[in-house]
Amino acid sequence: MQRLKGIGVSPGVVSGRAVILIQRAHVLRYQIGPARVADELRRLDDSRAASREQLVDIRQRVAQRRPEIASLFDAQLLMLDDPMLVPRAADIVRRQRVNAEWAIQQVFDEFSAVFDEVADPYLRERKGDVADLVGRLRMNLRQGVAIPRDLLNEVDEASILIADELTPSLAAQVDWTRVRGFATDAGSRTYHTAILARSLDVPAIVGLHNASQQVQPGDLVVLDGSASELIIDPGPDELARAAQHSEDHRPAGDADGHRRRPAATADGVRIRLDANIEFPDDLAAARYAGAEGIGLYRSEFLLSGAPPGQDGEDDTPPGTVPNEDKQYEIYRSMIAGMAPGAVTIRTFDVDEDQLASRSAPDTLAGGWAGEEARASRQGLRGLRLSLTRPELFQVQLRALLRAAPHGNLRIMFPFVSSVEQLRHARTMVRDARAELARRGEQLPPVPIGVMIEIPAAAYTADLLAREVDFFTIGTNDLIQYCLAVDRADARVSQLYEPLHPAILRMILMVRRAAKRRRIPVSLCGEMASDPALLALLVGLGLTEFSMTPGAIPVAKEVLGELRSDELRALARRVLRLPTIEEIERELVAVVSKSILTRSQP
Ligand code: PEP
Ligand code: MG
Repeated sequence: MQRLKGIGVSPGVVSGRAVILIQRAHVLRYQIGPARVADELRRLDDSRAASREQLVDIRQRVAQRRPEIASLFDAQLLMLDDPMLVPRAADIVRRQRVNAEWAIQQVFDEFSAVFDEVADPYLRERKGDVADLVGRLRMNLRQGVAIPRDLLNEVDEASILIADELTPSLAAQVDWTRVRGFATDAGSRTYHTAILARSLDVPAIVGLHNASQQVQPGDLVVLDGSASELIIDPGPDELARAAQHSEDHRPAGDADGHRRRPAATADGVRIRLDANIEFPDDLAAARYAGAEGIGLYRSEFLLSGAPPGQDGEDDTPPGTVPNEDKQYEIYRSMIAGMAPGAVTIRTFDVDEDQLASRSAPDTLAGGWAGEEARASRQGLRGLRLSLTRPELFQVQLRALLRAAPHGNLRIMFPFVSSVEQLRHARTMVRDARAELARRGEQLPPVPIGVMIEIPAAAYTADLLAREVDFFTIGTNDLIQYCLAVDRADARVSQLYEPLHPAILRMILMVRRAAKRRRIPVSLCGEMASDPALLALLVGLGLTEFSMTPGAIPVAKEVLGELRSDELRALARRVLRLPTIEEIERELVAVVSKSILTRSQP
């Protein structure tokens, strides 16, 4: 038995098997079942084969122009066959039953430790080669990998999540009906972990320093949030105490009805919470989470053929655009499935390369790989691309309009940077309508909106507002273009900051422009799924949001604890503050206070 001390941020005592989640260097570590070991070993082999092919190819290409560099790749090819690399990783997979990415990372860490010791500068230099090779192996492992979202849903019942850090977007992917509590290495009573734990109503401890290293996947642990203690390998007394606590705190009442109640602040201001989805199948998750509608369907995921893990359900090969009838069928069933709730379908948001070949990693739904790929796209993308491909755009518009009578559809254009583009797109909608009328189709009017995700659109929101039926603020792109930060670039990604004063002002500006023209405005970027940021956005006057389905229950809980007048006052103070740090402090003070005082034992 071993006891680790941290900071309890949510009371209660629970026991369960540990699930470890480590995001260090973007490598997740998770336990795999015995049945999956063979799959992981195969993934390792495939990744080695792909890496070899790529290295041989690169070597050949550089050999003609820069023979001296070609030898570097010879060295990497040799390393690829070194028994201390891939075979060692395979051994770790077998013995520790962990995923291949983590095994490779561990091998790299072992290598690094050895290289750091050696005095010979030439040998020390080789560490860079190993890092490069490991990076390549990891990249190749990503191809076709099951996304963490699925993995987090696969955990056993009665698990305790132990993570180095639990970000809101990660927490949104966890199946909290199975995870009984969580503990993190990082953190003090910081706003998001504390709020998360409280709103999820699970015991939690933060600031455990290295619990994610000390606890092994599958270890039996007791987490005591009240005593700020994580017990590894507990004795019968500790287990009995945890069992007694669970008995005393069995949830009562109608959990389903609770989930479906509409969101509102403590003083009764209605807040609309919709879901962001990527696949028609996500509709069930959205409904289960209590979404009122779909605020963003990323229709470009249609272009990737069958969704990952559902081979054979769709006969559209990757890279092919489904024809009008096929698209109509998908849109129709989605709109009908959510009726009377509204479904906002965004027209394809891809660039030329992605259109030519919707290959990995962007075909992964929602996970980190998808985020990164989305984050780095610019140029001829979104509506801009659709306008240059009228044949493609017309097919999508006709399919959408035909589906409209089956429910409550809204059409939204992505990546709009000017009124001209919007007018051009509306003309195309009229053309699609005219064509359908010729075919004898009677169609209802459909609201047309734009995403505000380029600073130019935010600055001209007053002009755009005159010509659309609704706005949706896309902060994922807006933040990166406003702050000139490419999120995929690790050197500057720490500057990607939703609380930057420029972002808050832009959001306020768009909200005001929408209000003046009396058109609805919603916000669908990731920032809405962070409860503290959501609170501030409500303070800025927004009342409609769309987020990943898993974040909706938490958002409802948190909103129900906060008063809108206090949030407005908070936003007024925050808008006068010059730095992110001061803004964050102000936010923590207000939001944590409300949340933390509500259910203190
Ligand atoms: C956004 O940019 O905020 C957004 C929701 O769109 P995507 O993440 O698909 O670019
Ligand atoms: Mg976007």
